[in-house]
Amino acid sequence: MNDLGIVGGTICDGFNSYEANVYIKNGKISAVSSEKLDAAEIYNADGMYVIPGLIDPHVHFALNLGKYTSSDDFESGSIGAAFGGVTTYIDFLDPITDYDELEEAFKKRMYLASSSHVNYSFHTTIAHPTFSPERLCQKSLEFGINSVKNFTTYSTSNRMTKDGYIFELLKETSRYGIVATFHAENDDLILKAMKKEKTHKANNLPKYHSFEAEAEAVSRIATLARLTNGQAYVVHNSSGRSVELLRKCGIPQNLRLETCPQYFVFDDSKYENDESAALHALVPPLRSRLDVELMKEHFKDGVFYTIGTDHCPFKRKEKLENVGDYDSMPNGIGGVELSFTVFYNLFVKNNLVRLEDLVRTQSYNVATTFGMKEKGRIAPGYDADIAIFDPSKEWTVNMNSLHTKSDYTPYEGMNLKGKFTSTIVGGEFVVKDGILNENSKGTFVRRGPVFWRTR
Ligand SMILES: [Zn+2]
Repeated sequence: MNDLGIVGGTICDGFNSYEANVYIKNGKISAVSSEKLDAAEIYNADGMYVIPGLIDPHVHFALNLGKYTSSDDFESGSIGAAFGGVTTYIDFLDPITDYDELEEAFKKRMYLASSSHVNYSFHTTIAHPTFSPERLCQKSLEFGINSVKNFTTYSTSNRMTKDGYIFELLKETSRYGIVATFHAENDDLILKAMKKEKTHKANNLPKYHSFEAEAEAVSRIATLARLTNGQAYVVHNSSGRSVELLRKCGIPQNLRLETCPQYFVFDDSKYENDESAALHALVPPLRSRLDVELMKEHFKDGVFYTIGTDHCPFKRKEKLENVGDYDSMPNGIGGVELSFTVFYNLFVKNNLVRLEDLVRTQSYNVATTFGMKEKGRIAPGYDADIAIFDPSKEWTVNMNSLHTKSDYTPYEGMNLKGKFTSTIVGGEFVVKDGILNENSKGTFVRRGPVFWRTR
């Protein structure tokens, strides 16, 4: 006897869509069938899309920046995730410089993440590392982590990893089954732009963190990936012109690109007045209208392999008390609860992208990129992480409709079609018909070596 049957829905697994019932037993998908099988509980998904639980590869819950900590802890962040169809997310360990710091960094985040309602995993983060890339790969895998985040900038806060190290690390990635991920911006271009002004204002973010700074660094990572055959992944691609340059040179198979919803919805006009600039301060910043339009073209062409959110909201007051002093302002906005639905409205609803392609970008592609072998598909033997989406529901984003602990959202007032009604993690409902199951718990997703299939 199955534990749960989800019947009457349309399964959309990232490749095909078809009508069938999904059955779950002991936290795993036990059958996908057009017939009605026995189950202790039956959930009626008439008129719904039944999709593999989404995986957000880029969130920052309880990110401690000293004076400020991002508004969503692992509890509220994971609740927002669940209401957004996300059943697993990847957060980050605090940056380490020496390999013996990894254990403590891991334990610290694991402790905080124990309040999560959905599944979680982590990227190791390095900051001007002093130990060998080989040691880094070995040590990271010991903790069930197969991805390492690098910054090509932030030299002033000692977080930058230099090209020589990146080159060596990329060589090791394909030996050890590691993914090197990059926040890619040219450090010197940023420093030069900021040095021109004595005091910094959020209004000038697109000048400080220019699209050229991003374009140069992303292209450099592409070159290093080509030269090393390593597994390279660039987070939060924000600029249509940067991606255009990359495409002109050809994107190597061993480079995968992530993007985020904010770079498709908002443009740099948000930086025109001080208050709005503060509330939309993030890095990379919002780009020009031209960039946004180009991003849409790239998205339609399937250039982005995954979608993350870089979910990192702060409170209105924390942003606004630093108006006029960008250097003290916490960067980031939220998005984990809205990402899929925003993309669905921008692209799928308008017949620009197939639903299957969007689902794949947010589930299967993330699972295979980061070595979650039992996630990202609806098929027997896979983990029973499932999201149920009602395409007919119409709603307007406001603070009452979201679960973030922040007190504003840049998406306020956005009219959306489609809403996740239920989310299942490991065979248990975390959200059922819009109601949270307070007792639901996520588990840590251990990730072993991953080797990308490249053509
Ligand atoms: Zn981030």
